[in-house]
Amino acid sequence: MSEPDTPKIETTVQGTGTSETADSIADRGRTVIESRNLSVHYGDEQALQDVSMKVPRRQVTAIIGPSGCGKSTFLRCINRMNDLVDSAVVEGELLLEGTNVYDDDIDPVALRRQIGMVFQHPNPFPKSIYDNVAYGLRIQGITDKMDERVQTALERAALWDEVKDQLQKSALDLSGGQQQRLCIARAIAVDPDVLLMDEPASALDPIATSKIEDLIEELAEEYTVIIVTHNMQQAARISDKTAVFLTGGNLVEFDDTESIFENPESERVEDYITGKFG
Ligand code: ADP
Repeated sequence: MSEPDTPKIETTVQGTGTSETADSIADRGRTVIESRNLSVHYGDEQALQDVSMKVPRRQVTAIIGPSGCGKSTFLRCINRMNDLVDSAVVEGELLLEGTNVYDDDIDPVALRRQIGMVFQHPNPFPKSIYDNVAYGLRIQGITDKMDERVQTALERAALWDEVKDQLQKSALDLSGGQQQRLCIARAIAVDPDVLLMDEPASALDPIATSKIEDLIEELAEEYTVIIVTHNMQQAARISDKTAVFLTGGNLVEFDDTESIFENPESERVEDYITGKFG
């Protein structure tokens, strides 16, 4: 997983079904990602303002807030996708296992292998189901136990039973919900530590959405999941922690999901979650 020139962050041998250690199970909940005074500008416009928060390992953290408040920008800071936006300037720190991902010696490509991402619209490659899942492994030069790795990823993405007899079929022939689960399988096949999901169910019908929600809860047994959603009920249903961003890229409140939805400290958050604005 790690690149020679990239500081190593902790990994476990997954993707082949190898079990984790008791220590790593006990590790659940400790901070894996921490932003410290993270600010982002696109040209003159400030999209994030001094955001400081700690994301717990192997839990689901939801990011909610009205459109344009910086949710996706925050997500894209974590795997340095904002590097691809010319006008984006990032200040502050984003620590992954204590290492600032913006340090000079971090290779963003290697970082993105440790931090998988799933987007709003399923984006499988125009290849077979098998080749979609195997894609990242092959790029990394991993060729052994390929069938087993593909099967494990598809099982973890709750898709195996539906596709096991048609692995050579084009991924583009799958339904939208299946395509999204395939994208999740593709992301986890390379054994990332963290999964970023940017509104992964918002383009799907209610049944497909419900399957993705169940899957996200299962995935959090093994991965740290950070999900941007505009759907507050979804955040309440599936997340352990919730961060509420409001206008101007401010993180207004970050707490256990139950506290945010039942007893928020901030009046602005209460107004937002009760639908008074947003
Ligand atoms: P959200 O995910 O909460 O809808 P975003 O992070 O997408 O918010 O956007 C936050 C602000 O940054 C918005 O004002 C948006 O217009 C601006 N923004 C987002 N992406 C870009 C970009 N690539 N270039 C310029 N401005 C951007």
